[in-house]
Amino acid sequence: MFPAALERQFEQDTQERRCARLRVGILVSAVLYNFFLIADWLLVPDVLRVATLLHLGLVTPWMLFAAWAMTKRPPPFVRECLAASVPLFIILQIDYGFASTTSEGAAHYQYVVIPTLLYANVSLHRLPFRFARFVTAAVVICHAAVVLSANYISNPVAVMILIQLAICGYITLVANYTMERDLRRAYLFSLRDRLRHSLADAASKRDSLTGLANRYHLEIELRRLWAAIGKPHPMVSVILMDIDHFKRLNDRYGHGAGDLCLKRLAAILIAEVGAGSEVVVRYGGEEFLIVLPAVQLVDAMRVAGRIRRSVEKATIPNEGPGFGIVTASFGVASAYVNELTGAELIAAADAALYAAKQKGRNQVWPPLAAPGGTSNIEQISFRDRA
Ligand code: GH3
Ligand code: MG
Ligand code: MG
Repeated sequence: MFPAALERQFEQDTQERRCARLRVGILVSAVLYNFFLIADWLLVPDVLRVATLLHLGLVTPWMLFAAWAMTKRPPPFVRECLAASVPLFIILQIDYGFASTTSEGAAHYQYVVIPTLLYANVSLHRLPFRFARFVTAAVVICHAAVVLSANYISNPVAVMILIQLAICGYITLVANYTMERDLRRAYLFSLRDRLRHSLADAASKRDSLTGLANRYHLEIELRRLWAAIGKPHPMVSVILMDIDHFKRLNDRYGHGAGDLCLKRLAAILIAEVGAGSEVVVRYGGEEFLIVLPAVQLVDAMRVAGRIRRSVEKATIPNEGPGFGIVTASFGVASAYVNELTGAELIAAADAALYAAKQKGRNQVWPPLAAPGGTSNIEQISFRDRA
């Protein structure tokens, strides 16, 4: 067994296959099991009638029920109990016939016990080891009791039966244990590969400095958004943000301070935008792109305005002409996905960003119009500060 959490994951990952395998295994064995009526007919004809009744009236219907129950994906304990019940029912039927016959050929009837052990421990059915132990012990004890009490079996034959039964139980249990161990090991290896793959995949989509998504992730997200084109066409907004005078900050305080500033702004972006369906990307050295699916232009401009104010509030020093603190400029663009490609939409935001820089930096472009006029709320705040 794995530790509890891993065992749950293992169960979740293997449940469907296990149920399908058991369903097929039980149905196949229902057919094979009924072939053994030939053994009853040839070796113990005096109990053929009761054997047929047990075969067709009890064990086969139970097997069909167990096979059907597998389609309902029962919880693991119930599932394995059902699976374990099948060989137990079979052995009870066999030993009932064995105990009640007086036929001469009965000593050979015990050959049918071996396939039952093989079936429970190593075939399609293959019980989990903890169940296989129990079933094997029950089969060996039950059959040994019947063999020892049957007075038509000579002592040397009884001894041989018990020896071969014990050996067969031991060999099939070892095989069962080894197969389960190998299965679980193979599962661990596949899980490790999956984890490594998902870690590598996540790392390939992240910017290592800021932890934000990188352009590779952006391309995947844009492709996904544009592939989902349907009716009505979804609107997508993008905000392109560029830190103002960042080169000056680097030159004055050093690249370490520049890196720290990038990290702080990344944290501000995450705090402002959240981590829902939006994608926050480190687009270039000191440029960030935010993709806002299903957001109108005016709302995207408001988001950009909020971020701009948060960057200001962080008051990261950047001495020189202007504010003396780190500020950023923003270009916003929106489109329905059938109107523009992702690249065209980003180019539109880039053109807007260029305009924001031209107009004096630390602002959002296009500007939000104040109610009843064309004045620019973002520019007003910028001018107020200036
Ligand atoms: P503007 O206001 O016009 O945007 O001016 P700017 O100085 O911000 O823009 P410019 O393109 O002249 O300079 C960007 C600087 O960003 C140059 C580069 O050294 C710096 N940069 C790019 N990537 C990184 C990084 O990962 N870490 C640091 N510290 N600096 C970076
Ligand atoms: Mg730039
Ligand atoms: Mg810049």
